[in-house]
Amino acid sequence: MTIHANRTDELISLTEQSTAHNYHPLPVVITEGTGAWVTDVEGRQYLDCLAAYSAINFGHRNPVIVDAVRAQLERITLTSRAFHHDLLGPFTGQLAALTGKNLVLPMNTGAEAVETGIKVARKWGYEVKGVPEDSATIIVADGNFHGRTISIVSFSTDDAARTHFGPYTPGFHVVPYGDAPALADAIDDTTVAVLIEPIQGEAGVVVPPDGYLSRVRQLCDARGLLFIADEIQSGLGRTGTTFACEYENVVPDLYLLGKALGGGIVPVSAVVGDADVLGVIHPGEHGSTFGGNPLACAAGQAVVEMLHTGEWQARAAELGAHLMDRLQPLVGRGVHDVRGRGLWAGVDIDPALMTGREACEALLAEGILAKDTHGSTIRLAPPLVITPEEIDMAVDALARVLR
Ligand SMILES: *Cc1c(COP(=O)(O)O)cnc(C)c1O
Repeated sequence: MTIHANRTDELISLTEQSTAHNYHPLPVVITEGTGAWVTDVEGRQYLDCLAAYSAINFGHRNPVIVDAVRAQLERITLTSRAFHHDLLGPFTGQLAALTGKNLVLPMNTGAEAVETGIKVARKWGYEVKGVPEDSATIIVADGNFHGRTISIVSFSTDDAARTHFGPYTPGFHVVPYGDAPALADAIDDTTVAVLIEPIQGEAGVVVPPDGYLSRVRQLCDARGLLFIADEIQSGLGRTGTTFACEYENVVPDLYLLGKALGGGIVPVSAVVGDADVLGVIHPGEHGSTFGGNPLACAAGQAVVEMLHTGEWQARAAELGAHLMDRLQPLVGRGVHDVRGRGLWAGVDIDPALMTGREACEALLAEGILAKDTHGSTIRLAPPLVITPEEIDMAVDALARVLR
């Protein structure tokens, strides 16, 4: 293997010259990936413990998904929604069945699914609930992450995401996450929906107190509101169940899905709900040139089929228990707190020791890819194909870095 010592630096400076600086990536240049592993341009291998923020749940280039997408590449990739194509019905039917709902509105990115959910909730509020025109409000939680469009950053509580992007979209009411009484107090005659993440990913894998999701469900039922669950990061197997809401046996009115739905190959997102809610959208009122395209449907269909047997969910639960068992002893040894569900953990590093960024740079040198969030938290979300031994490698590396 030829080692080009300066290849990484060269490519990073080339990237920085011509790419807007809207990210601050770790200094590694990846060129290949298989399963839970990626290789950089110098030929070094890394265990991927971020999995593209859970978009790579089934591993890099999962062969089942790659085969489905490759076969579709040989047929047709894009028709627009001006015409029918032969994969849309099968894909939406299977995704609806997976959720127990009956309608799917396909989009591309997560932020688009969130925007779609907001539009549906407002229209439902006016047409079904009878809220006076232009007065609908949606309750959201602080610490949320739902994407970066203007309307979504309008209700972000993260200064970096929000500052200097006004004027902001009105109609959102922020309450503390995990606090059901505060949410109950915030409901008024204009409220049409509650939009929350069942576990807050970007915030650092923040798990709400037990009973919170079912209390939100009860409040929505009692006050005639839609419960919109943003499962873009938490959904599709990550937490040990198909959806994170299942932990409390809660069924939201709308699921927002994305990330892993595209199998790590193409962006695929969707809003899933019943016809009494999603049915408020009629031709011309919402759409996307690429939403529901044949290639996306081929990837999405492969993902949904893989989730049907429950094997991936069970694997996430088992591996997650192992990960937690291994992380717990680090508390008090450079780690302040560990939390998570399934194969998804937030690790709070002692800020006196180092920042999350510094910890991730040190992990990188150990051959482990992870990403910091909010100063001193590291999020661990490896692909579900990772083995227990590989989890041990990652945790041992973290222990070394913190020593
Ligand atoms: C990533 C994410 C989004 C936004 O998805 P994009 O595809 O980046 O637009 C929305 N909600 C949650 C919970 C996410 O994790």
